[in-house]
Amino acid sequence: MGNKLEGDVAIVTGGNSGIGEATAHLFAKEGAKVALLARREKEGKEVESAINASGGEAKFFQCDVADRNQIDEVINNVVSTYGKISVLFNNAGGGDKGNFPNETDEGWERVIAVNLNGTFYVCRAVWPHLIESGRGRIVNMSSLAAQRGFSKNMYDLVGRGPSSSYYAAKAGVDAFTRYAAGMGGQHNIRVNGVRPGQIITPLTDVGGGNHSLKGAFDFIQILDGPGYPDDVANTVLFLVSSDSRFITGEIINVDGGMPGKL
Ligand code: NAP
Repeated sequence: MGNKLEGDVAIVTGGNSGIGEATAHLFAKEGAKVALLARREKEGKEVESAINASGGEAKFFQCDVADRNQIDEVINNVVSTYGKISVLFNNAGGGDKGNFPNETDEGWERVIAVNLNGTFYVCRAVWPHLIESGRGRIVNMSSLAAQRGFSKNMYDLVGRGPSSSYYAAKAGVDAFTRYAAGMGGQHNIRVNGVRPGQIITPLTDVGGGNHSLKGAFDFIQILDGPGYPDDVANTVLFLVSSDSRFITGEIINVDGGMPGKL
């Protein structure tokens, strides 16, 4: 157990699986009380129990981040339970199986709603509590998709790419992150982001330790192999701890390195 987040109350959206689950465990190990927000209750309760059994403090709050009507009530419940909110990891998200132009209205709207609208709704509801905490910190979940396109050869290697809705949503998250960082300075709120590349999680694991877009990622990645949820969790911890006290408005790639940008 460490003490980098002693006295903090942290919200992790999508905290019942993958990168969010790993980050929730790490936050709790560093002394934060952790509120896990997601839709699936069984998985949420399991992560809650695992963290509490290992000496941490966590509670699951069922919530669809795409539904603006639920957000204020859930955030109030978190504050009633833990007394404050000082850290927010906006991690909930995911893409659509379709590729442009074969993407439906429903798919486009769902992906924008969860990744982009959800980030906005939760930030807006938590903001006054971050101000009140005196030292608020937000990390938003972006993706390499916000910055990198697909070539025909890469597309042929994997037979598909992420949906255009996912590219657009995550690029929107990047822009919102920079904007919110600017607004946060006057309140001592730092806002940063992470852009993972291929990370093995329930969302992307196609078996054998392989990412669903492995062929394309391997083609453009400097370091060997996929990344794992802890690789992202460690970066998020850095961004919410005082080790990064002079950093805001940055979005860190956690992607094994990309030669195209060197
Ligand atoms: P995951 O294990 O499937 O986690 C996705 C999480 O988001 C789940 O906890 C899910 O919980 C939650 N979620 C989805 N829709 C939600 C909604 N409407 N309301 C509340 N929670 C919702 O996959 P992951 O890879 O860890 O993904 C986490 C984040 O990382 C996503 O934003 C993803 O886009 C991003 N990312 C992942 C990779 C990668 O290679 N794995 C790369 C770049 C970015 P419920 O279903 O229970 O709601």
